[in-house]
Amino acid sequence: MAGDRDGRDGSTGMGKTIVREKKRIRTASQKLVESLQRSNKRLSEANEELQEEIVGHRWLAEALRESEERHCAVLQTANDAIISIDSWGNIISWNRGAQVIFGYTEEEILGKEITVLIPRQFRDDFREGMARLSAGEGPDYKSWMNEFLGMRKDGSAFPTEVSLAEWKAGKDTFYTSIVRDITERKRAEEELKETNERLDLQNEELRVQGQELLEKSKELEKANQAKSEFLAHMSHELRTPLNVIIGFAELMQGQVPGKVNTEQKQCLDDILGSSRYLLTLVNDILDLTKIESGKVELRLRKVSLPDLVESIKSEIMPVLAKKRQSLEVKLGRGLPRVNIDEAKVGQVLINLLGNSAKFTPESGTLRIEAAREDNCCRVSVIDNGIGVREENQKNIFEPFYQVDRPLNNGLGGTGLGLTIARQIVEEHGGRIWVGSEYGKGSRFNFTLPLATDG
Ligand code: ADP
Repeated sequence: MAGDRDGRDGSTGMGKTIVREKKRIRTASQKLVESLQRSNKRLSEANEELQEEIVGHRWLAEALRESEERHCAVLQTANDAIISIDSWGNIISWNRGAQVIFGYTEEEILGKEITVLIPRQFRDDFREGMARLSAGEGPDYKSWMNEFLGMRKDGSAFPTEVSLAEWKAGKDTFYTSIVRDITERKRAEEELKETNERLDLQNEELRVQGQELLEKSKELEKANQAKSEFLAHMSHELRTPLNVIIGFAELMQGQVPGKVNTEQKQCLDDILGSSRYLLTLVNDILDLTKIESGKVELRLRKVSLPDLVESIKSEIMPVLAKKRQSLEVKLGRGLPRVNIDEAKVGQVLINLLGNSAKFTPESGTLRIEAAREDNCCRVSVIDNGIGVREENQKNIFEPFYQVDRPLNNGLGGTGLGLTIARQIVEEHGGRIWVGSEYGKGSRFNFTLPLATDG
């Protein structure tokens, strides 16, 4: 009974325990499963992250490789030498530019000390500089690293320009420098310097020459002034006796002091001809020198050109009459008045008309024209005479210049008329020029300033 009881009791107790145990196990395994599932999830998440990271790394590695390739390409194609060294100064990389500049191949140079690339006398300094650089005294080092002499494999030295960058890999320090061969630049600089020095020298020489010229021109001016004064004085002194000679010759020709025979008359004609010519010459020289030395003061006033032309007619018409030449006057309508020295400009007109009469055959026609031109008045004296060849046109205003002198001599004249005319016109601020066709005639033009109120 007791056993039954026990057994019953026992089986009942056992059963319960088993049931409980089972339940506990189930719960525990359920938890385990859940925890496993959670771990699994975390693992797969971690896995995904890892995958992403791997992809990222691969991309990074690819990008790095590409950048490295680009870097290498730049390195190799650069014309400059790009050289890297370690902190002991040993060369660890060498590009094609370096090979071209220094002459060493990569195999020859890698591992060698960088000092092989500079002349011996600078190597100790260089090493000292490197030591200072390693000790962190960079700036000082850089100052002498900017330009220095490089040395090629064949031992020849050449000027270089160097820039330097420091970089680190782990604990080690490295330096990469870009070395440029500046031989050409230096030569150009040198040439420029020499050219500048030469130019400076030439400038100085020119300055000295200019100074000398200035002094010479002052001396010449003085001499010219003295010459003008001498000529003016001499001409003045010559005029008195010449007038006496002419006066007495005329008296004798008029037989006032007594009868003269034909031969004596001929002699008197010659004396008179030459004396009058001489007097004209003396007067012309006097005029010229007076103007040249600035002794002539223009008496400017407002003059009407028709009045001026009218006033000279009385003087010029007898000259024209001798060769039966006629004079036409064609003055523009409403011609403004000019601001001139009437007597002097009248002299110019008489001079030009006299020349025209002289170089125009009998019965020829002379013409005076005048017209307004911008801010001046242009006056022209025109003839249909022998004309002036083009090659002579610029010379005829020079003193004593006469075209075909021997023939001209027959016509008289001193060769000073046009020079005086030019001076008078230029004194007025105008200009004078000739237009001519040889054999057909000439046209002498000059300009005069307008009077302000016309
Ligand atoms: P000249 O006293 O000889 O006339 P000018 O100085 O007045 O001196 O003239 C210089 C030269 O210019 C003359 O000798 C002449 O050869 C030339 N000439 C001047 N005017 C005329 C003109 N109207 N026709 C041709 N030739 C001229």
